[in-house]
Amino acid sequence: MPKLQQAMMLTDDGYRDLKKAIFACTLTNFSMLPPFFTLVQFVAELLRPFTGGAISPTKLWILFGAGIVSAFLTYLCQRNDYRKTYVVSYTQSKRTRVAVAEHIRRLPMSVFNSKNLSDLTSNIMADVANSEHALSHLAPQLIANGVSITVTCALLAIYDWRMALAMFITMPVSIAVVTLSEKIYGRLAKRFMEAKLDASDRVQEYIDGIKVIRACNMDGERFEALRKALREMMRNAMKFELGAGVFIMGAQTILQAGIGITTLAGTTLLTGGRISFESFTLFLIIAVKIYGPVITLLTLLPELFYFRIGIRRIRDLMAIETMDGDKEKDITSFGIVFEHVDFSYNKGETQTIRDLNLTIQAGGITALVGPSGGGKSTILKLIARFWDADRGKISIGGVNVKYIDPERLMGYMSFVFQDVTLFNDTVLGNIKIGDMDATEERARAAAKVARCDDFVNKLPEGYNTTLGENGATLSGGERQRISIARALLKDAPIILLDEATASLDPENEAAVQEAISALIEGKTVVVIAHSLRSVMGADKIAVLDKGRLFEQGTGEELLAKNGLFAKLYDIQRESLNWTAKK
Ligand code: ADP
Repeated sequence: MPKLQQAMMLTDDGYRDLKKAIFACTLTNFSMLPPFFTLVQFVAELLRPFTGGAISPTKLWILFGAGIVSAFLTYLCQRNDYRKTYVVSYTQSKRTRVAVAEHIRRLPMSVFNSKNLSDLTSNIMADVANSEHALSHLAPQLIANGVSITVTCALLAIYDWRMALAMFITMPVSIAVVTLSEKIYGRLAKRFMEAKLDASDRVQEYIDGIKVIRACNMDGERFEALRKALREMMRNAMKFELGAGVFIMGAQTILQAGIGITTLAGTTLLTGGRISFESFTLFLIIAVKIYGPVITLLTLLPELFYFRIGIRRIRDLMAIETMDGDKEKDITSFGIVFEHVDFSYNKGETQTIRDLNLTIQAGGITALVGPSGGGKSTILKLIARFWDADRGKISIGGVNVKYIDPERLMGYMSFVFQDVTLFNDTVLGNIKIGDMDATEERARAAAKVARCDDFVNKLPEGYNTTLGENGATLSGGERQRISIARALLKDAPIILLDEATASLDPENEAAVQEAISALIEGKTVVVIAHSLRSVMGADKIAVLDKGRLFEQGTGEELLAKNGLFAKLYDIQRESLNWTAKK
């Protein structure tokens, strides 16, 4: 892959487009030369009386006409240039955004644990916007300016190398100043970017926590953290701007000194009779004009360095290995087996799951119970391969989940969790998440079985009612029934369930229970149970404590054993009595 393509994270199409954009930009730069040289000729003609000649009106008219024609051609080139660079860069940034989002979807969950969310959002939005800017404005202009400046240098050197040398001598010096100082403002840019991320984190935190902040009257302290982050960001922004500004201004001053050097060299050559007055004037006019593209180049370079940080961040993100596996593998039976599984969320920290051996019977209900923080949810996440086990093996129907593509694996299971995510779509659209290809009839039938009918029909437009941001208007039980309808529609052989009926009112609880009963019929079910009474009918109960399997068996067996389960069971029963008595 060519270096430039690699550096700018471009797809093959994007790279081809960039080459086109550079060509278009160079063409525009060159197209500016004819109008300029026509102007120079025009002025030279007007200066003729000073060198003893006479002005030819015909020549003036011809030059005037040529000027207009060449200006029009420049306009055409610019229009083409605009299309090639801007339009193309937006297409490319869309491609990059989709590629980054796709990549994030396939990343192991551990990445999300260590990287915070605003970092990731910033990756997709700001960094891609930055690379888009680099692509649309900077790279083509930089390269095209470089090319046209070199060609102009060469042409002028052929005309009069001494004057050309005087004119261009300051150029490499000024470019060197900007390039060599990259390290300094590169560091400033990095700090500025970090401060920006931190500030956006704080803002997010502040908005997310506004209720708690108000309730606890802690706005002073929290607000101070936010204010500090914003102040840091401002300070770093100013430092960066100032840092880059100093070098750019310095470089520009050095560059502009070239006008003085050209004048000096020209006057010396003129008094020695080694250059004509006409050439001298021409070079002076050109000197004033020629530094324009170079100044643009000097201003663009630091910007490019700044944007490179964003591009590097995208590249780092894209370099994180995704979770892959066999995409074709079929699983034909659905018993789940944990063998000596160890797992911790953050490497080197305390283990969340320790040496777990557990057999989940196909077609049966296995309930996970135990004190909170014991590792029940973690077990479901491991089955679904949100994470990979550190040691040991988890297999479904004899196939190690580690070797199955996560999406393929996901096809075999449905989740019904406490916190249901609803999208800003219609009720039907939300149910169809379970199976995008399902017909409307099937989706409605699933909704009916999930007991959604009674409340959906009360909504203004029934199943076509758009649910607001995360279905804010629905009750917890209603949201759960929608998620059960999704799972019913998906009809996956494994159901992972987080029982949450405890937080529901009795009417909703009954409806949700019925819906769940319909869902789990004949499936392999793993349920996190909170109410111990409701799990007595499960085929197996696994009691977890501190990441270890404490005991397992049927409800009756465990009660007879008089261990942890029996103790927890008693506690729950007493608390129920207590509530009833009160
Ligand atoms: P349970 O479902 O039994 O309440 P969990 O499986 O949710 O327990 O949690 C087990 C332990 O793992 C807890 O100590 C919890 O703090 C920790 N834990 C859960 N999720 C994460 C995570 N994403 N990152 C780090 N630690 C986590």
